[in-house]
Amino acid sequence: MLRAFRSIRGWQRQTFIDYPGKIATALFFAGCNLRCPYCHNPDLVLGGADAVVDGAEFFAYLDKRKKMIEGVVISGGEPAVQPQELAALVTAIRARGFAIKLDTNGMLPEVIAQCAPDYLALDLKTVPSAYRILLKASFTDVEQRLIKSLAIVRSMGADAEVRITCAPEIISEEIIAGLRPLLRGVARVFLQPFQNNVPLLDPAFNAKKPLPKESLRRFCDILKDSVGQCRIRGE
Ligand code: SF4
Repeated sequence: MLRAFRSIRGWQRQTFIDYPGKIATALFFAGCNLRCPYCHNPDLVLGGADAVVDGAEFFAYLDKRKKMIEGVVISGGEPAVQPQELAALVTAIRARGFAIKLDTNGMLPEVIAQCAPDYLALDLKTVPSAYRILLKASFTDVEQRLIKSLAIVRSMGADAEVRITCAPEIISEEIIAGLRPLLRGVARVFLQPFQNNVPLLDPAFNAKKPLPKESLRRFCDILKDSVGQCRIRGE
C-alpha cells in the first residue's frame, strides 16, 4: 500500500471547507506540470519535500471514520501527473464508499475523465495563449486541453466549479473577458483573491499587492452573463 502511493506527500485529516457540503479528508500529490508564480505549495510542486503518506494508515483512518468522513479531496500539486497512482487511489476510495473530489489544473483531461470524480474543481489560470509564458506550460495545445476539461466541468453541472486566482499581472479585465468563451455554460465560477502571506513559488510574487476587491467585482460582472453563477470566494 505504501509503495503504491509514493507521490502522495500531504494529508489533512479533516476539512470542513474543501469539499462543498461534505466533511472530508484531503490528500496532496507532489509534482505539477505548471509553474504558477503565485503557487502556495512550492515544496510539493518542486518534488515533494514532505514524507510519503502511509497508505495503510490513511485507509485505516478512513475505515474507522465511515460515520464521520463523507468524502476524500484529492489535491496537489497536480494529481493528474500521476495517473496510475491516482487511478489506484480512486479505486480504493470508491471501494470503501466515499465520495471523491478532484482538484486539477485541467491540463490532462483524459486523466480527469478516467478519475470520474463526484465533484471537480478546475483551476483556470489565464487565457490559453499565456500558459506557456506565464506558467511555463510545456504543452503546445493548452487551449484544446482546457476545452476538453471544461466540457467535463460543464457536463457535471453544479457538481463542478472553475476557480480563477486573481493574481496581479496575470489576471485583468481583458484576460477575464478573453476567458468568457471558454467558460460559457459553466455552472459555478469562483474568483479567488491572490494571497501573498505564505511563501510562493516565485518569491517576487510575495511582494506584489492583491488586486482590489472592486476589480474582482468587475470581473464577476464581466462573467455573470456567460456562466450560471460567479462569486468571489469568501464573500
Ligand atoms: S498553483 Fe496549482 S497548477 Fe499552479 S504550480 Fe501550484 S499546484 Fe501547479
